[in-house]
Amino acid sequence: RFITIEGIDGAGKTSHVEAIAQRWRARGLEVVRSREPGGTPLAEMLRDLVLNEAMDPLTEALLVFAARRDHTERVIRPALARGAVVLCDRYTDATFAYQGGGRGFDLAVLTQLEAWVQQGLQPDLTLWFDLPAEVAAQRRGAARAPDRFEREELDFFDAVRAGYARRERADPQRVRRLDASGTPEQVAHAWQAVLESLGW
Ligand code: C5P
Ligand code: MG
Repeated sequence: RFITIEGIDGAGKTSHVEAIAQRWRARGLEVVRSREPGGTPLAEMLRDLVLNEAMDPLTEALLVFAARRDHTERVIRPALARGAVVLCDRYTDATFAYQGGGRGFDLAVLTQLEAWVQQGLQPDLTLWFDLPAEVAAQRRGAARAPDRFEREELDFFDAVRAGYARRERADPQRVRRLDASGTPEQVAHAWQAVLESLGW
């Protein structure tokens, strides 16, 4: 089983990954935890470039998918083949949300890269930790009254969020939206309810 965790920065997804992993570890299953961009030594180097170097949008998209290819072939497919549960903090929905929604990159090109790099592999389930950009910004420690720069940042994360919403509409069976604006306990109940509804 391949499960991915998604959401804008400040959604709190990373703080839930270990608890989600425990759900299967407690039953004796192997859980491989990973993250994107990254997940292998090469992909982590590419992550560092994507996050810290200025580059044009196509270069950014190609590097994110190059990192994904390495991660998918070296970690995700072997783990799934031996029966492990793979739990990944971000995957291709993040590319559609950040590069597509946030930076306005051509979605048709992303769809082609996705097909080329993943050869049909898709997560079985995606837990989308969704909350308004304003709430996420406050969690990230932004000022209450945003200045011009922070306002642009809010617009960016609104667009990223809209990118996730588009992915949910395209594949609602796979992408499950969780209300991530509540307390950690409320959010944990939300993902537990999804997993229980699937018998997982
Ligand atoms: O999930 P995590 O906090 O590790 O993501 C690190 C950063 O990578 C995020 O702030 C996001 O802006 C960026 N990112 C991106 N494009 C992706 C995935 C992540 O710009 N496809
Ligand atoms: Mg994070």
